[in-house]
Amino acid sequence: MTRDPRYDILFEPMKIGPVTLRNRFYQVPHCNGLGSILPRGHAAMREVKAEGGWAAVCTEILSIHPSSDSWPFAQVKLWDEHDVKSLSILTEAVHRHGALAGAELAHGGFAVANRYTREVPLAPSAIPNRRDPWQARAMDRADIRAYRGWHRRAALQARKAGFDIIYVYAADDLELLQFFLSRRRNHRGDEYGGSLENRVRLLREVIEDTKDAVGDSCAVAVRYAIDEFSGPDGLVSDGEGREIIEMLAELPDLWDVKVSPWAEDSLSSRFGAEGFQEPYHAIVKKLTTKPVVGVGRFTSPDTMISQIKRGILDIIGAARPSIADPFLPKKIEEGRLEDIRECIGCNVCVSGYTSGAIIRCTQNPTMGEEYRRGWHPERVQRKQSEAEILVVGAGPAGLECATVLGKRGYQVRLAEAGRELGGRVAAESRLPGLAAWIRVRDHRVQQLSKLPTVEIFRESRLTPEEIRETGADHVVIATGCAWRKDGVGRHNHRAIPGWDGASVVTPEDVMAGRALAGPVILFDDDDYYLGGVLAEKLRRDGHRVILVTPSPLVSAWTQFTLEQEKIQKRLIELDVGIVANHNLVRIDAGHVELACIFTDRLTRHEAGSVVMVTARLPIDALYHELMVAPDALRAAGIKSVTRIGDCLAPGMIAHAVYSGHRHARELDAPPADDLPFRPEPLDLTPL
Ligand code: ADP
Ligand code: SF4
Repeated sequence: MTRDPRYDILFEPMKIGPVTLRNRFYQVPHCNGLGSILPRGHAAMREVKAEGGWAAVCTEILSIHPSSDSWPFAQVKLWDEHDVKSLSILTEAVHRHGALAGAELAHGGFAVANRYTREVPLAPSAIPNRRDPWQARAMDRADIRAYRGWHRRAALQARKAGFDIIYVYAADDLELLQFFLSRRRNHRGDEYGGSLENRVRLLREVIEDTKDAVGDSCAVAVRYAIDEFSGPDGLVSDGEGREIIEMLAELPDLWDVKVSPWAEDSLSSRFGAEGFQEPYHAIVKKLTTKPVVGVGRFTSPDTMISQIKRGILDIIGAARPSIADPFLPKKIEEGRLEDIRECIGCNVCVSGYTSGAIIRCTQNPTMGEEYRRGWHPERVQRKQSEAEILVVGAGPAGLECATVLGKRGYQVRLAEAGRELGGRVAAESRLPGLAAWIRVRDHRVQQLSKLPTVEIFRESRLTPEEIRETGADHVVIATGCAWRKDGVGRHNHRAIPGWDGASVVTPEDVMAGRALAGPVILFDDDDYYLGGVLAEKLRRDGHRVILVTPSPLVSAWTQFTLEQEKIQKRLIELDVGIVANHNLVRIDAGHVELACIFTDRLTRHEAGSVVMVTARLPIDALYHELMVAPDALRAAGIKSVTRIGDCLAPGMIAHAVYSGHRHARELDAPPADDLPFRPEPLDLTPL
C-alpha cells in the first residue's frame, strides 16, 4: 500500500540548525524507568522508535552533574566518560535506522533531593526541595559559573556520544533553568534575578554556551514551559511566558514548547483531548521563524496535517503515541492507518517511572521488553507447530492472546460468552472520561479481522464439556474477574458485617445501570481509578454520593498517573462528599458505620446504597473444573490449559494485555533457560 498524498507534508524533511530531520515525526524526550543501570534496555527501546520511522528519537532527562540526582527514580546520567560510552550504544542504535538522536541535558535544581550523591541541591534561591526535609541552597555567582561549565561539558560529551540534537531544558517544573525564569522560584537581587531580562539571563547564556560548544554540528533545541499554571506569579502564556520567547526567538534551532508542570503536559484522556495544547503552540509560531515542535497525544494523521497547515506546529512531537505505537510514522507512510495502535491516554506508561518501575504500556505490551525479552512491537515468531488453540473470553487478555497467536499463524478459536467483545474495557469505556479506552478492544478486533486463521464465536459461554469437545490442543482461559461484594480488600480481611444486605452493590451493578437508593456510600479500598469514576458517574446521574476511603486521598494510586489532584478537584467541584482515612466496618438498613483508621473512633452515616470497590476475585471455576479431570483432558487431546489476565490475577488492563501477549509469544517457544528474560550484564571490569 502507498500513503495518501494528503499526508505527504508529514514526510517532508525539516532542517533544524546544522542537521536535517527526515520527516516531521519527532519522539520528544520521555521518561521510561530504565535509566543508566539498564543502558541496553534503554537503547533497544529507543531503537524500535527509530526503526518505526520517527525522524528524531530523544532521551529523557540526562543529569549533567552529581548535584542533580533523582535517586531512587531511574535516571540517565552524563557525568563521565563511562556514561558517554554507555549512551553511545543508544545513539548507534538510533542511527542504524536513519533517525537523529536527541539528548535532553538537565539539572533538577531543588526538584531533586540528591539522596544518592548527598550533594546539596541547588536553586536560584534558598527554598525547600520537593519532598525531603532539607533545603536547596541559593547559587552564588561561582555556582552559576560552575553550572554553565557542567552544561557546556555535558553538551560536548553528548556530541561525543553521538547525539545530533542537544537540548537546553527549561520545562516540566523539574529544571533549574525554568526556576531561574519564574518569579515564584527566583527571589534573587543580583543580575540573575528581579527584572525579566535578569531572570532570562541564565537561559540565554546557556543557549549561547551550548551553541558555541556544539552548534556547528548539532542542533540546539530549547524545551520550554510557556505556561506554569500557577497564576501571574509564574510564567503565563499571555505574559512573561510569551515575552521570554520573544526575547530569545531566533536563538535556538528548534523550539520544543509545552505547558508545565508535567501533570498538565501529560494530560490523560480523562482530562484532555488530542491536541489540547494547541492554544499554547499557536502563540509560539507567530513569534519565531525557527521550527516549533509540540505534543498533544497525536495519533490521527488528519489532526497532524491540520496542525501543520494551520501554522500551529512544524513538527509533530509525541511521547505517548510513540510508546503505544513505535511504528506510527511507518504505518502512515505505508497507508496502513487501520494498523495504528492508538494511545488510550491512560498514563500507565508514566506510572512506570513515577512508581519506580520500568516503563509499560496498556496498548503496547512489548514496551520496555525489547532488549530483555527480545520482543518487537511488529514482529512475532512464526508458529512452531500445527497446534490448534481455543481462547475462552474476549476481554483485553483473550483478544491480545488470540491476535498474537493468529499473527504467529496458529489456528485459533476465540469464544466469548457475551454478544459484545472487549470484556471490562467495553463496560468501563462507557464511564465518564474513559471513552478512549475502547481503543484497547477496537485495535485488536480490527487486527483479528485480517487474520484468516482466527475464528470468533460470540454468545458462546463454554462449559468444560464443550471445551473438551472442541478438539483443541491448547486451551487458554481468559474469563476475567469480578468485583467482590463482601468488602474484603486491603483494609478488611473478613467480610464486612451487613455486606449481604439488599442495599449493597458491586461496580458491575452500577455499570449495568442498576437503580440505587440515595444517599450512595461508595467505599473505595482499591485506590485506582474506578472508585473515583463511579462516584463521578453516580453524581452526574443525580445521586448524593459520599466517597469513603481508608486512604488520605481519593484514587490515591493515580498520583502515579499524574491524575490524582485532578480527580479530587473534579469530585469536590461536583459536590461529591469525601470521607478520607476511614474504613467501612458495618452496614445496617439505611446506615453505615465508619471507623477512623488512626483512632478507631466510630461514626454513623445515612446510606441508601453501598457500592463496594475493594478487591476482585478471578472467574476461574472453568479452569479448575477442567484441571480436576486430567484424564478427561488427555482423552480429549488437550495438552495444556492456561489461565491468563484477570482470571490468573486481577490487575490493570495493561497486565491483562501483557499476560495475553506473553502467553501467545511463549506458546511452543518458552524462554531458553530458567530466567524469564535476559538480565543486563553488569560490567565488573576493575576500575
Ligand atoms: P481480562 O481483563 O483478563 O481480559 P475481562 O473480564 O475483561 O478479563 O474479560 C473476560 C471475558 O471473558 C468477558 O468478556 C466474559 O464475558 C468472558 N467469559 C467469561 N466466562 C466465559 C466462558 N465460560 N466462556 C466464554 N467467555 C467467557
Ligand atoms: Fe498511551 Fe496508556 Fe500506553 Fe501510555 S500506557 S502510551 S497513555 S496507552
